[in-house]
Amino acid sequence: MLPVVALVGRPNVGKSTLFNRLTNSRDALVADYPGLTRDRKYGQANFEQQQFIVVDTGGITGDEAGIDAEMAQQSLLAIDEADVVLFLVDARAGLLPADQGIADHLRRLDKTVFLVANKVDGIDGDSESAEFYSLGLGHIHQIAAAHGRGVSQLMEKALSPLSEAFPDMLAQPEQGHQELDAEEQLERLQNLPIKLAIVGKPNVGKSTLTNRILGEERVVVYDMPGTTRDSVYIPLTRDEREYILIDTAGVRKRKKVSEAVEKFSIVKTLQAIEEANVVLLVIDAREGISDQDLSLLGFIINSGRSLVLAVNKWDGLSTDVKDELKRELDRRLGFIDFARLHFISALHGTGVGNLFESVVEAYSSATRRVNTSLLTQIMEMAQDDHQPPLVRGRRVKMKYAHAGGYNPPVIVIHGNQVDDLSNAYKRYLMNYFRKALNVMGTPIKIEFREGS
Ligand code: GDP
Ligand code: GDP
Repeated sequence: MLPVVALVGRPNVGKSTLFNRLTNSRDALVADYPGLTRDRKYGQANFEQQQFIVVDTGGITGDEAGIDAEMAQQSLLAIDEADVVLFLVDARAGLLPADQGIADHLRRLDKTVFLVANKVDGIDGDSESAEFYSLGLGHIHQIAAAHGRGVSQLMEKALSPLSEAFPDMLAQPEQGHQELDAEEQLERLQNLPIKLAIVGKPNVGKSTLTNRILGEERVVVYDMPGTTRDSVYIPLTRDEREYILIDTAGVRKRKKVSEAVEKFSIVKTLQAIEEANVVLLVIDAREGISDQDLSLLGFIINSGRSLVLAVNKWDGLSTDVKDELKRELDRRLGFIDFARLHFISALHGTGVGNLFESVVEAYSSATRRVNTSLLTQIMEMAQDDHQPPLVRGRRVKMKYAHAGGYNPPVIVIHGNQVDDLSNAYKRYLMNYFRKALNVMGTPIKIEFREGS
């Protein structure tokens, strides 16, 4: 589990700017898929070795009666589920009624709130932000998100109280006995059930699919106490393999039909993705690909989880509609060449059985041992086929490669000036490794280390 940090504030105070600074991940190679929506509202932050989930709750404006009521609802839910709230105000614009409205909301929730005065660059921060004391939220943390000023200090204060409750938030140390760590990690992974998360927007058919999967199997169900942000974990045996189904739709919590409509929770979905080994992303054939689908997809790819795509509600569509949909999927999802795509009907059960073949394949790909000599060999072949371009007149020299982790497979390449390799060349390497290792269903990460 990772802690959740919510960014709150009226439009234009600098939430996206802070968001981008916090999520500016070094794993750009994996994150940087053309075609994914740039305007993400939630993301994995890896800030100064600390990992957390950050949610930009743009929908809350302080005037919740307006047309954006539904968006505000989602935002309020996200705030409710956050471990820490950063409430941003604009030190240049000064205190506005909408700030007061949001502060009133926040005070009613029992949340840890940090009041953050942004844009203090080039102004007298102390005097310009003094008026925000009247919001009654205590100390004012001054930052300039655009320039990074004050952000480290703020995050240090916001995150350090969480480190005990969330031991996972400290990023793995980068150097050291990485090959050994990878080996240990692999052993752990191979001895545990496959954690499979079923995720997707509201109404795509997650509960129907979960029920369909469970209906075919004997299951022992634990009803675990929890809040809205907790998923339900359902152990499941299928073809002699053990799974833990991470049910974000809350199927097994529903005691009565009247409870059937459970609130869709972004935070729950993100936590489930973080926890899973394999993610099954359900898309609604009747709706086509939406920005929210792409957003979720971006999050899954960033998290490095294995991925299987299911286009649900494939029943009762005309051939024309199906063809058109396939073209749209090709156009908008073509860049995710590593994930299997299934057309299913959860309602009728069509295609559901085959999903598990892809789940197993994806998991196996993500947890297959790759040794140093094989990886180095592939790396050399890639280098022979296509030399890295010169950097400042010198040729980049890759020396050897070894495994740095699994699920996702991490390939660590050592060499001279490897940091200078272009993104195009890195992408070429990734595809080369993918083909050579025959990896399907999981992203691959490549890390570069200067020297040997
Ligand atoms: P959001 O609507 O809350 O997400 O706000 P944005 O992040 O889009 O920022 C709104 C505007 O404020 C943009 O023009 C930013 O460039 C600007 N801005 C954000 N942070 C700072 C800052 O630290 N200093 C200054 N001077 N401008 C900033
Ligand atoms: P969730 O919010 O993602 O859990 O979605 P539900 O499983 O509650 O399904 C939402 C609606 O879509 C319900 O009315 C389902 O009966 C319907 N539905 C789910 N799967 C299918 C399917 O394969 N075909 C059709 N036609 N409808 C489906």
